[in-house]
Amino acid sequence: MKKVLITGAAGFLGSHLCDRFIKEGYAVIAMDNLITGDLKNIAHLQSHENFKFINHDVSEYIEIEGRLDYILHFASPASPIDYLKIPIQTLKVGSLGTHNLLGLAKAKGARMLIASTSEVYGDPEVHPQTEEYYGNVNPIGPRGVYDEAKRFQEAITMAYHTYHGVETRIVRIFNTYGPRMRLNDGRVLPAFIGQALRGEDLTVFGEGNQTRSFCYVDDLIEGIYRLLHSDYVYPVNIGNPDEITILDFAKEIIKLTGTNQKIVYKGLPVNDPMQRQPDITKAKEILGWEPKVSRAEGLKITYAYFKNLSKEELYKKEHNTFEGYIKS
Ligand code: UDP
Repeated sequence: MKKVLITGAAGFLGSHLCDRFIKEGYAVIAMDNLITGDLKNIAHLQSHENFKFINHDVSEYIEIEGRLDYILHFASPASPIDYLKIPIQTLKVGSLGTHNLLGLAKAKGARMLIASTSEVYGDPEVHPQTEEYYGNVNPIGPRGVYDEAKRFQEAITMAYHTYHGVETRIVRIFNTYGPRMRLNDGRVLPAFIGQALRGEDLTVFGEGNQTRSFCYVDDLIEGIYRLLHSDYVYPVNIGNPDEITILDFAKEIIKLTGTNQKIVYKGLPVNDPMQRQPDITKAKEILGWEPKVSRAEGLKITYAYFKNLSKEELYKKEHNTFEGYIKS
């Protein structure tokens, strides 16, 4: 039986990865320090004989007993408002955490896949974004702590591959959504659905003409699974190229939820990328992968998940201020 360590395992993507690897018959060691993750996302796996949870911060030295075949590093805050709240942890998990895990991969002879991001492209001047584009990142802007940590993460991962011969894989993840996203993490999809469910107006930042391309979580996990098992060591974009403006997206959510609320406009956050769309030619060619779930289908499933949450969760305010995030 192959053994995999998944970091950020109690988070949105980490928990879906745990499900997939358990389903494929792996022994899963799930690691999380629960800063932004939630044990409820993996509660259904806790009693599984091939599943083990370890509460640990990967920025500190990591010890794993016995053999290890794969490491998937998915620990990191992942919403712009989170980076503002915990900027130092964001930098540490991408840099020190990645260093510790690469050391572990080297010691165990494990293959390591890191979760990189479309944020390495910053506010891109090339559209759609190909893996060859170097990006347009402001290192000292509010997103810098995440963007630069992820860029460093790619650099140190390639260095461990080149100098130590560690088997590495790099996925650049574009906006992804689905069940188990945190309702109140400030990201646009849970923000809009939460607002609709609470009977609040939907907050579009700027004029809403910035674009994003949303990928359903099952598609993303399939792409990651294929990349891990491929022999390609350079970064691969995984995302859904179906691009939409944030204003049109708000209108879709209004239609989906049947809310009577209206759209209100707020200031545009500093360094908010104006357009984002993955070029997935590489993923198609190398992995034979492309997304299968349309936004209409994916949103229906995701809305059903959020509708089922308790009142307490719906009204829990993790982020009651956007101060510092939004340009006035
Ligand atoms: N956004 C918005 N209203 C909200 C939250 C976000 O208009 O209540 C916008 C945000 O400015 C950005 C887009 O939605 O342009 C996506 O934001 P998110 O934080 O989900 O992810 P990003 O792709 O910016 O990291």
